[in-house]
Amino acid sequence: MAPDCSSFVFPNSSRTLRKKRRLAGDETYGPVQAGNDMARAAAFLLAVAVARGRYVVLENPSGSCIFSYLKTWLEVVPGAVKCIVHRCAYSNAPAGERWLKPYKFLAYGPGSLAGNWIWRAARRCRCPNGQMKLEASGVSGTPGLSASASYPKQLGEMLVKAWQWANDHQKDDDSYTYTSDSDSEMEASASSDDQSSDPDEFNPGAWQR
Ligand SMILES: [Zn+2]
Repeated sequence: MAPDCSSFVFPNSSRTLRKKRRLAGDETYGPVQAGNDMARAAAFLLAVAVARGRYVVLENPSGSCIFSYLKTWLEVVPGAVKCIVHRCAYSNAPAGERWLKPYKFLAYGPGSLAGNWIWRAARRCRCPNGQMKLEASGVSGTPGLSASASYPKQLGEMLVKAWQWANDHQKDDDSYTYTSDSDSEMEASASSDDQSSDPDEFNPGAWQR
């Protein structure tokens, strides 16, 4: 699920008035109301899916504060695995015409596999240095935000394949050694072929400011 991020990202924060201590923002502002409603609906559907033993994932740009806004709901749902992937890693565009744009996935699933199925779809930027002017500073400005909003086709396909793989292997679940809530193990598996072991390192969203 990818709830509308537009009211949860920094570029709109002067109107949404979302702040660290006021994550719900200005709820008299229509887009904030709509964003909050959609986010809570997504969290509810996610909880239902997990309760029914399904694999499910919530996605937003890594700088979106939707995950913080939903924290009190999401943290009671077991099996969460967080990962960051970069749009450019799924793009066939020439170097220099790709967006680095980091997406954040919060994946869940049953059993010991939990949300770790998401790693099968996870890729990080491997663009050659100096050949990605748009990537160097991340996505900025409205044109970039709009153009990078859609998933590259390859990312969509890999997500579906990972999800299918998880379903196909559910019956063998006991053979997996993943744990659902160990940051160190998650990072270890993430860094095996990544340039960075810190999934939060690429975070152009200025929410923390
Ligand atoms: Zn890249």
